[in-house]
Amino acid sequence: ALLRAADAAMYASKRTGHRIEEAELGADTRRLRDLADAIANDNLALHFQPILDVRTQAVLAVEALLRWDHPDDGPIAPNVLIPLVEASALLTPLTRWVLRNACKATRQMHDRGHRVGVHVNISIRNLADPTFADDVLAALHDHQLPSKWLTLEITDSSGFQPDDARRTVARLTEAGVGVALDGFGNDSVMVRIRTMQLTALKVDQSLLTDATHSNYGRAVLRTLGAFGRELGLPLIVEGVETAEHLHAAAGAGIERAQGFGLAKPLSFPETLAWLDGRLSLDQPLTPPATAAV
Ligand code: C2E
Ligand code: MG
Ligand code: MG
Repeated sequence: ALLRAADAAMYASKRTGHRIEEAELGADTRRLRDLADAIANDNLALHFQPILDVRTQAVLAVEALLRWDHPDDGPIAPNVLIPLVEASALLTPLTRWVLRNACKATRQMHDRGHRVGVHVNISIRNLADPTFADDVLAALHDHQLPSKWLTLEITDSSGFQPDDARRTVARLTEAGVGVALDGFGNDSVMVRIRTMQLTALKVDQSLLTDATHSNYGRAVLRTLGAFGRELGLPLIVEGVETAEHLHAAAGAGIERAQGFGLAKPLSFPETLAWLDGRLSLDQPLTPPATAAV
């Protein structure tokens, strides 16, 4: 019967897509209204999944995971709920509920002698909210939990709003709150590296700029160099403008480079003239034999 209903809905949507859309909007709206009630009445729960030290198995922290048992529809998974909430005005109150209850639970764990950290999942959209950092610090303060025990996990930074988000993260980390990137390695770039038979990576100029400005930037570039070598994927760094840039690339173990500081784009005749005066390889650059997915 369920299948037949789905078929009928699909058929109807082909003919009168507009009306189906309205019906779906209605269902989402109803859920959000019920969620607003659940937040107001504390009818939500958190589960906690321990994070352990790999070697010693000591408990380092617990990750708070939202649970909602809908009065009619039963449990609604956070993966279903959160995208709905993110597009609504409920994101702020829901996140506030999760933060407060996570801090409260952790305070109770500490009071029983279990000094563990707590990880709270937040949406990238929370970071754009100018009151968010204050909400976080207030939740910690109200439960007398020092900031070092809290880590926020951010999923899907693709919607990263550089200025607002960066300011919020800086404010929180400076206050001692941890910020983790959730789902690392499953973002679009890493998925492409993992699934496509690439033969080289072209490294953006911004990494080179960072590498000449900070130790952290230098470490990132060095790590990328090691990453390329380990995968058998040659790196070609772009935007080498100065001797310092070239030095940074070499220091990171990156072997190929291009940029205005090495050679500018040239017309065809200029290219021929330029080549005449240069040493070139007598074969195309190919990756080492290890580069195979
Ligand atoms: P889950 O509890 O069903 O949560 C799914 C995702 O919903 C979370 O992925 C997180 O992105 C989001 N989420 C949960 N609670 C909140 C919240 O309060 N606020 C916001 N904004 N988002 C929330 P995440 O963070 O990667 O969590 C790990 C997920 O993986 C959890 O699912 C957990 O139950 C599940 N899991 C843990 N261990 C295993 C395992 O060994 N195998 C599998 N298959 N799943 C596991
Ligand atoms: Mg998480
Ligand atoms: Mg995760």
